[in-house]
Amino acid sequence: MSIDFRRAVFLTSVPDSSIAPPDRGAEVAFAGRSNAGKSSALNTITERRGLARTSKTPGRTQQINFFDLGENRRLVDLPGFGYAKVPQAMKQQWQQNLMEYLHVRRSLRGLILLMDCRHPLTKYDRQMLVWCADVGLPTHVLLTKSDKLKRGAASNSLLGVRRHLPDLHPTATVQLFSALNKTGVDEARQLVSDWLCSPCADC
Ligand code: GDP
Repeated sequence: MSIDFRRAVFLTSVPDSSIAPPDRGAEVAFAGRSNAGKSSALNTITERRGLARTSKTPGRTQQINFFDLGENRRLVDLPGFGYAKVPQAMKQQWQQNLMEYLHVRRSLRGLILLMDCRHPLTKYDRQMLVWCADVGLPTHVLLTKSDKLKRGAASNSLLGVRRHLPDLHPTATVQLFSALNKTGVDEARQLVSDWLCSPCADC
C-alpha cells in the first residue's frame, strides 16, 4: 500500500501538542532549522505548491501545522528552529513544545529531519537526533538543496553525515534531496509512505 500525497490538505495549526488533532492513526513530522528547505520539501513531496508556506523570512512558522491525508493519516510541519533573531525565551518555549510533542504523540511514526547539505549537523540538528533516539523515534535525514553542490561534494556531504549518525541516532538514515531538480523525492515519498502504513506497535 502507498499513500497518495496529493490528497494532502491543511487541517489545523496549533501552538502546542495539547490541542493537536486527536492522536489516532499515523503521522510523520518534518523538522529542521529555519531555512533548511522544510516547506519546499513538503510541497514537493505532496506536489502541492502552496501547502506549506515557504518564506524568505526564516523563523516565521512558529506553530505546529497538521496536514490531512485521509484515513487518519497526517503530515506534520514542526516549527523551524535556530533563527538568531527570535528571542531566547521564545526559542526555549518552542523547544519545550517540541519535546513534549515527541514524547506524548502516540500516532507519530517517524521524523524527517531536514538539513541544508552545505552545512549539515548543526548543534540543533545533533540535539534533535539525540532527542529522537531517546524516545525511540525512527528518523530519516534529508540533505536538502543538493542541486547547489556538484556531484562529488554532494556525495561527500552524504558520506560525512552517514559517518556521524551512529553516534547520534543509531538507526537514523540519510539521503540527498532537492526540491528544485527532484533528486531523492521518490525515495523520501516511499519512506514516509511506509511509515504511515506500518502497523502501530502498541495500539
Ligand atoms: P524552511 O524555512 O525550512 O521552510 O525553508 P523553505 O522551504 O522556505 O526554503 C528556504 C529557501 O531555500 C527558499 O528561498 C527556497 O526557495 C530555497 N530552497 C528550498 N529548497 C531548495 C532546493 O531544493 N534547491 C534550491 N536551490 N533552493 C531551495
